[in-house]
Amino acid sequence: MKRRNFLKNASLTGLGLAVAPAIASCETDDKKVKKSTGKTVVPVVVATWRFHNATKAAWEVLEKGGTSIDAIEAGCRVEEADLKNTTVGNGGAPDRDGNVTLDACIMSKDGGYGAVVCMENIAHPISVARKVMEETPHVLLAGKGAEQFAVEQGFKRENLLTEASKKAWEKWKVKSEYKPIINIENHDTIGMLAIDKNGDISGGCTTSGMAYKMAGRVGDSAIIGSGLFIDNAIGGATATGMGEEVLKTVGSYLIVELMRQGRTPQEACEEGVKRIVASNPNYQNFQVGYVALNKQGEYGCYCIHGGFGISKFQEGKQTYIDSKAYTKKG
Ligand code: ASP
Repeated sequence: MKRRNFLKNASLTGLGLAVAPAIASCETDDKKVKKSTGKTVVPVVVATWRFHNATKAAWEVLEKGGTSIDAIEAGCRVEEADLKNTTVGNGGAPDRDGNVTLDACIMSKDGGYGAVVCMENIAHPISVARKVMEETPHVLLAGKGAEQFAVEQGFKRENLLTEASKKAWEKWKVKSEYKPIINIENHDTIGMLAIDKNGDISGGCTTSGMAYKMAGRVGDSAIIGSGLFIDNAIGGATATGMGEEVLKTVGSYLIVELMRQGRTPQEACEEGVKRIVASNPNYQNFQVGYVALNKQGEYGCYCIHGGFGISKFQEGKQTYIDSKAYTKKG
């Protein structure tokens, strides 16, 4: 079943540029709600961590005038295909039983959402998530059902456990201790937000989850409002790190709602992290990082512990922004 949305795009005002649509359509009683600024927005992509190849691929789509949803899919696919990246897609670290299970979601400017969780044997969950959004009456498919749907859609089954990941898992099995380590590769989900020349924002988030997790464990990354949330009237947010903590605080939704109430992306990310810290005295032992982008193209990021940062691509220039951290505050 198709449920494509044929909403007309906003008209262009110039090559690669657009006037940000009014955000006053989001009526709330809060006086802090930002009304339309009429400001020009330059296409931009931001992503968690140093995923420079991914933001480059997304930028190439935006630069050619492509849509933010196409940019997101193209960018996320780069990391999913990278066998050296043991935290996303093919080559991802397995669960404690040695099975690679992937979670991913995508959100469009129209409020569309598609996701897969705990999916095995398919290398590009972000693309399957997009198919769920565009080709089914559902928003989230899990496990075998997700895999079956992917195969029906033409994705090929493949073994995602590389020799290197298998060896690392066999070494881990000797002690079998589930101890996520701050800022080590097992926190490297890619969450990506992009604004295109129409001023429309989309987002994606894709991961193999925490290394050596229990079988069937699903983190925040593919869950709407937790690992990712997009509201084309306001902006978007995405997360990386200890998924359980992001899920409990519905972090990305919280950040977008705070931006709706007038907080900057930076302020909203900081509040998102503080909610986690306030509710969990164990915060010294895990990491969470957020990145947010509002419709004016302003971004922010914040994390519990230093070491997190974001990759940004705009106007042909790539930058890495080291995130401020809760435990490093002066
Ligand atoms: N957030 C991901 C999860 O909990 C993991 C990560 O970001 O590394 O599955």
